[in-house]
Amino acid sequence: MIPTISNLQRRDLNHVWHPCSQMKDYEDFPPIVIKSGKGIYLYDENGKQYLDAVSSWWVNLFGHANERISTALANQAFQLEHVIFANFTHEPAVLLAEKLAKITPDGLTKVFFADNGSSAIEVALKMSFQYHMQKNKPNKKRFLALTDAYHGETLGALSVGGVDLYNEVYQPLLLDTIRAQGPDCYRCPYNESPDSCRTPCISSVEEKLKVHQAELAAIIIEPLIQAAAGMKMYPPTYLKKLKELCLRYDVHLIADEVAVGFGRTGTMFACEQADITPDFMCLAKGLTGGYLPLSAVLTTEDVYDAFYDDYESMKAFLHSHSYTGNPLACRVALEVLQIFEDDNYLDEIQEKGAYMNELASKVFNHQPYLGEYRQTGMVGAIELVKDKVTKESFPSEERIGYKIYQIALEKGLLLRPLGNVLYFMPPYVITKEEINKMISITNEAVQQYFESTKVPTYE
Ligand SMILES: *Cc1c(COP(=O)(O)O)cnc(C)c1O
Repeated sequence: MIPTISNLQRRDLNHVWHPCSQMKDYEDFPPIVIKSGKGIYLYDENGKQYLDAVSSWWVNLFGHANERISTALANQAFQLEHVIFANFTHEPAVLLAEKLAKITPDGLTKVFFADNGSSAIEVALKMSFQYHMQKNKPNKKRFLALTDAYHGETLGALSVGGVDLYNEVYQPLLLDTIRAQGPDCYRCPYNESPDSCRTPCISSVEEKLKVHQAELAAIIIEPLIQAAAGMKMYPPTYLKKLKELCLRYDVHLIADEVAVGFGRTGTMFACEQADITPDFMCLAKGLTGGYLPLSAVLTTEDVYDAFYDDYESMKAFLHSHSYTGNPLACRVALEVLQIFEDDNYLDEIQEKGAYMNELASKVFNHQPYLGEYRQTGMVGAIELVKDKVTKESFPSEERIGYKIYQIALEKGLLLRPLGNVLYFMPPYVITKEEINKMISITNEAVQQYFESTKVPTYE
């Protein structure tokens, strides 16, 4: 069937190459033209409403076209839109750096700005390598990452990522990363249960550390949720042990909080739940509430000091991006953090998160293909499996997630499944009624998909 397409859709297809997409798919599923947004909703050119259950790729916190944030942005735009950030500074950047140093775990006192999550990862990797080099440990030039990790798309970030779908093609271009088996709580090979888990799976990391300690600069990890891998969740104990291992083996810990930072896991930062301070913390996405690209790498005095010397020593960190410390983005981030405080959003997240968890667990429990419903803070995930007992996955060629996504869109809900995992990561301004709606439309979409296919039922 050839859908009727609008003028803008046709012109889009003439010139635009969309991210993370097979453009041929767009021929029978053209891009939806969004005209406006308000709160948790997006509106297309025909006025159709979509509930944004994925916060527009995990960036939005307080709704689209948020009054306070838009006003702060407009005011800043009339005062100063941008200035070179080498040898220059400005109030929004200073205030934001102070604020980030204050709200992140103790000991993270220095802030380096970049433009997006991937660049923040590049900064942390380069800083860690250079730190060791300047401490006379030039052999420490490799990184350890977990299976199923995701850290972004630039070559360095992709190198530490472990999701084959994104990496495989580029393997010849990537750094030689050391890979440890990451936690897999749903299919736990040790038969532990999340509540009483003693994290025996950490042994995989320790084995690699024992062998590669001398050549390792840092371990990089997504605290509590391996998001892009399908919202794989694991307990804080794992992080706590990981930090101990890093200290014991003289390896940095890079906490990639790009997806989980700013309240997503129920605390401001996921690392808080393990009571740890990493050597580097990478922040982006929610930092600007979904308004502008901005990222920050927080690090310690110890790291900073290793670069601090007379110019001739050539120890400086000579890394920059054109838009480093952009005033508009910094001002927006400040407003986002102010809203967090003024409206006690961490409490709201706890309350709404608990509500969502209870309701979704109950509703999806009836689905014959539900492997697991799992949730941390305001991130909920439904893993669909072919067989509940063996936990066998649906083959990726069936594109179950993609098909359910299309059905849900038709019903006015924007999900963006990761393979066979559907997830909710809504803006925090969502109400309980809207949570009901999000869950019931998802349930209908899943049901409708399975009714339309002839997959045998396993019960
Ligand atoms: C999205 C993401 C990144 C990359 O951020 P971009 O801004 O898309 O470059 C890095 N790490 C994690 C954990 C992410 O979810």
